[in-house]
Amino acid sequence: MTAATPLLQVDQVNAGYGLMPVLHALSIEVRPAEIVALVGSNGAGKTTLLRVLSRLLPCRGGRILWEGRDITPCTPDQVFSQGLVQVPEGRQLFDRMSVQDNLLMGAYRRRDKPQVRRDLERMYTLFPRLGERRGQLAGSMSGGEQQMCAMARALMAAPRLMMIDEMSLGLAPVVVQQLVEVLADIRAQGVTVLLVEQDVQVALGAADRAYVIENGRVTLSGEARQLIDDPAVQQAYLGV
Ligand code: ATP
Repeated sequence: MTAATPLLQVDQVNAGYGLMPVLHALSIEVRPAEIVALVGSNGAGKTTLLRVLSRLLPCRGGRILWEGRDITPCTPDQVFSQGLVQVPEGRQLFDRMSVQDNLLMGAYRRRDKPQVRRDLERMYTLFPRLGERRGQLAGSMSGGEQQMCAMARALMAAPRLMMIDEMSLGLAPVVVQQLVEVLADIRAQGVTVLLVEQDVQVALGAADRAYVIENGRVTLSGEARQLIDDPAVQQAYLGV
């Protein structure tokens, strides 16, 4: 891999469910230490793309490259081990387990136990609210706290690319702002972020670059700052 090699390259990928095609020759790339957003309306195919990347859904064409290596034939376990870790839509925490046990579940594949302990403390620094509530059952926490717990659990797997599906869904703007600030800290610690968002304002505010997906195709891409000012984006997604 050279400095110019993207961490992740999705190259002309097709995917779908049963007879229904959803992704059509979709291509994106994510470079190391970037925050990249995928935006688009309901049903555009964003979650489908994350499923393909986690290898939960097969590619019907095209390739997925990780640091230039073809990982299209890999299993979900294998891509997880390489460091592609997803924070699923709806958080999917272990509701009847404590916050701390949820975080430790994120690290269940890791053998570097002393580092896992240090990472646990790092999570409580990154998300002080989780530190205060480490003994509380995850299912009894607020939506924002649960999202923090889901992100921290994914980080406990020591990801290189963290893929977050609908981070802001159902959360108050002040909580979303806190999470956006944490994303910048996460990136500063060397984790690359792929953010899937229906809230285009949030996504473009948080990301370096973004792709607009419509009907399973990339229709626009570029620097997030420039896309915010793009008339097509403003009209379709920002209500301007
Ligand atoms: P949203 O933000 O609403 O989740 P999205 O961009 O993430 O939208 P997807 O969830 O990827 O969109 O859905 C893309 C298309 O695939 C939709 O038409 C959806 O109905 C369909 N789809 C998603 N999951 C399945 C499934 N398990 N079986 C059949 N069709 C599905």
